[in-house]
Amino acid sequence: MMKALVFHGPYDVRLEERPNQTDVLIKTTSAALCGSELHRYRGHSKINMQPGYICGHEGIGIVHEVGAGIKNFNVGDHVIVPFLVSCNECFHCKRGVHGRCKNGRNFGGPSLDGSQAQYFRVPLADTTLYHLPKDVDLGELAILMTDIFPTGFNGAKRAFIDTPREDWKDMSIAVIGCGPVALCSIISAREYKPARIFAIDSIPSRLEAAKELGCIPINFKEVDPVAVIKKATDNNGVHAVIEGVGLSPALKTAYDIICPGGKISSFVRNKDLIEKMKFIDLVLPQLDQSSVDALKRFERGELNKVVFKPNGLDI
Ligand SMILES: [Zn+2]
Ligand SMILES: [Zn+2]
Repeated sequence: MMKALVFHGPYDVRLEERPNQTDVLIKTTSAALCGSELHRYRGHSKINMQPGYICGHEGIGIVHEVGAGIKNFNVGDHVIVPFLVSCNECFHCKRGVHGRCKNGRNFGGPSLDGSQAQYFRVPLADTTLYHLPKDVDLGELAILMTDIFPTGFNGAKRAFIDTPREDWKDMSIAVIGCGPVALCSIISAREYKPARIFAIDSIPSRLEAAKELGCIPINFKEVDPVAVIKKATDNNGVHAVIEGVGLSPALKTAYDIICPGGKISSFVRNKDLIEKMKFIDLVLPQLDQSSVDALKRFERGELNKVVFKPNGLDI
């Protein structure tokens, strides 16, 4: 416990015991920039526009200080910090839906400072942090586990999980949008070994990446993806769609190409992870770039991911 001044009302501030044990302070080794932050940076967003908070919800680092009640982490541990904190005790956490934790907060917003800083604080740290695995050397790629890979992974999992395993091999699925998270979805979807994966985008390099992963690329600026998929599926549509854009035209396309009773999935680790990650390496910037230069390249669309090194540390 710690002693703290607690406000009770006018002229009534009391010294009380309060728990301070559940926080950990992280020394940041890498903090990445998310596309959602670019929406704010460019003024396209309406949420979290209040000035004054520290940016960043994708961060990895080294435990620098621990609260007295922390059981699972020690100073010096290398950790992955998911993009939101969760308690593992509330109604939603107990159902495994940690993203909707009643006690949760997202990093990099008005309610919780983010990871684009030399240090950042993690509340509910015992139930939020993950140790960086010692048996595999993920290096810089571990930053992908803070948001984009688990997000992509879940997008794929939800597309398949309600279909009996023996039917996966006969499934045709479509992935709408082939950005970094959607590519993580494609990489994950391949594990279910469906018959076909259609990949829809308009940027040739993204479609090429999807093709290299075994997808059938469809450029929606050149052809009508609905017509192409209807023709390729005997007018039935695909069994599942992974929608990775988040805009209504993409969702409309999803409804247009899904077969009756199909599943639209709008956006862990295993031994195959490293093999998957090698591909993702290609979408990371050269890490010897300065962050300013990297940001400019990001703005020009030359990079899909910018990784900051606030302390100049290699993990
Ligand atoms: Zn993100
Ligand atoms: Zn919770």
